[in-house]
Amino acid sequence: MSLKAFHSRIRQSIADENLQAALDNNARRRTEGRIDAFASIPDYQPRRARAHDIKADVVANLDEYLRRFISRAKENGIQVHRAADSAEALRIFLEIARTNNAHLVAKSKSMVSEEINFNHELEAAGLRPVETDLGEYIVQLRGERPSHIITPAVHLRRGQVGQLFHEKLGIPYTEDIPVLTNTARRVLREVFLTADIGVSGVNFGVVETGTLCIVTNEGNGRMCTTVPPVHVALMGIERLVPSLDDLALFLSLLPRSATGQKLSVYTSLLHSPRRPGEIDGPFERHLILLDNGRSRLRSSPLSESLFCIRCGACLNACPVFRETSGHAYLGRDGSLAPYPGPIGSVVSPGLFGCENFGHLAQASSLCGACKEACPVDIDLPALLLRTRAGETPDKCRPGIGLPAALKLGLWGFRLIAGTSSLFAAFQTLGGLFSRLYSPRRTYMRIPAWTGWGYSKDFPRLSDRPFRSKWRNIKQDVSPRESSAVSPEITPVVIPVVARPLEDQFTEELTILGGRVVKSAEKDLPGRLAEFLASKGADRVFVDEVGARFIAQGLHVLQPDPQIRVGVTGALAGIADTGSLVLVGGPGSPLTASLLPEVHVAILKSSALVPSLSDALQIPEVAEVAAGVIISGPSRTADIEMTLTIGVHGPGELIVFLIDDSDAV
Ligand code: SF4
Repeated sequence: MSLKAFHSRIRQSIADENLQAALDNNARRRTEGRIDAFASIPDYQPRRARAHDIKADVVANLDEYLRRFISRAKENGIQVHRAADSAEALRIFLEIARTNNAHLVAKSKSMVSEEINFNHELEAAGLRPVETDLGEYIVQLRGERPSHIITPAVHLRRGQVGQLFHEKLGIPYTEDIPVLTNTARRVLREVFLTADIGVSGVNFGVVETGTLCIVTNEGNGRMCTTVPPVHVALMGIERLVPSLDDLALFLSLLPRSATGQKLSVYTSLLHSPRRPGEIDGPFERHLILLDNGRSRLRSSPLSESLFCIRCGACLNACPVFRETSGHAYLGRDGSLAPYPGPIGSVVSPGLFGCENFGHLAQASSLCGACKEACPVDIDLPALLLRTRAGETPDKCRPGIGLPAALKLGLWGFRLIAGTSSLFAAFQTLGGLFSRLYSPRRTYMRIPAWTGWGYSKDFPRLSDRPFRSKWRNIKQDVSPRESSAVSPEITPVVIPVVARPLEDQFTEELTILGGRVVKSAEKDLPGRLAEFLASKGADRVFVDEVGARFIAQGLHVLQPDPQIRVGVTGALAGIADTGSLVLVGGPGSPLTASLLPEVHVAILKSSALVPSLSDALQIPEVAEVAAGVIISGPSRTADIEMTLTIGVHGPGELIVFLIDDSDAV
């Protein structure tokens, strides 16, 4: 097994103009979006430090946290299975599929499923898994694996997707992204409605409540966990947070880092299967908790890699990933590493063997951009260095992936650099050599076969090394002057003006593409009737709140995929993100806010809370079978990072805000 495939894939990637344009576009937009999103939380650094500490505590006490989480999830009615490795996880899943006589599996995005080669194994067992995230669906149709953990089809341009849909789905060739998105919506809607099992990943498991938290933007995650009769969640054992308060912290970091949003469009909070009296939600909810090498990783010098929340920010920041894409991260056996980028170059060798994937840690400039981007402050350069040094759970040989000549050179360099007099002597010799070798240039010509000087000149070594310059500077600068180099900085205090929650909520939801209509409660039936007439809606899917305001002849209490408008109540509104909190239950089907193209929510102004953290403290949020936090209409940017509204969930979100501030 050699590194030939790895090297030749890198060369191909760099030479592929389409790929380079797609990667540049992704990196630019993601980085800008991330910076804008973090501007709204000036305490980002303390939050990041707190997130790091929480994950450190979870990983250090993982057995205890797992015990408590499993016991709470079981009390809630979730069937919990533990899998030591991929084979066991697949066996458990296939058994669930067999007992439910399942064939069609609607799947939302899950990196754990990539790790266990889920689709391939299911197909081998005669099942039909269908990816429902738009980017994942595109790569599945192409017979590929995702090239980015957040944007699976980042390597493709719209023309390639147009050609793919033309060939596989029989539509006329088009590069119109909304048309392509609508085509996927139409095809996949049928899959959601007829699937026997829905499969999802899990972003966070909350120990204190046994909650499964899943964040998506398109609505496919909600579909997979709500519509099919059985839901199976796949989760790595490390994805725990102790409390709902901690969850609020992580949710303030994950979407901002991943997609530049304050909150993802849908944050699902799942506790149990469907309960008596409810008309939607799965009859069975399973959780497969996967170890697959994590326990060994936890007791190795790479344990910090288990703090990762899979936001993908380190990939977007990495100068190597930005030139090569995830498809270049190949093992010695030619297989694709399930996790690419800086974190993947640690996790892939750490979980799946250093012999096959250890060389990936060399695919880094160690510039530190990944550490700076990481919302959990994982010291990725240190982990990459430890991987290079062979400090993986399977203890591989140091310097794996490096050519013998380079290893020898590095060994020599270490020897010289470790002794200051030797280092000084070599600096002087180097300066002398470069003056003789390139007497008239400021750079040195390096023979092409070395690989150096390919894109940059190699600067001529200085005649006067830094040490000798420093010696002179030290003599010139008196201690008094040197202590005067840091002038006192007076902190600038920006006064914070509290805005009314209604105004804040309205502004934030409007930015997200939603609409707020203020109304007195007594006027609401008339305002709603007008609105429904403007949409030409002759039937409306309602929950019990909607039913109070919509004429009886018009409202329908059962899910019906043909109905275009859903009207629901909302438990709360979150002012600083413009989000709605909806909880399921008898008389409150969550599908009313999911299946129709238009979602109308009725929210009382007294139910507005300042922040997500306040919303998660509302007791019902943890008590119901399932709840969801909705932040704007369904959206995707999976094709060329172009924002497209209305993928699997509603494309329109209108909130009728009832002013009940005078109510007792
Ligand atoms: S290592 Fe940090 S930046 Fe990279 S995916 Fe994980 S959490 Fe995000």
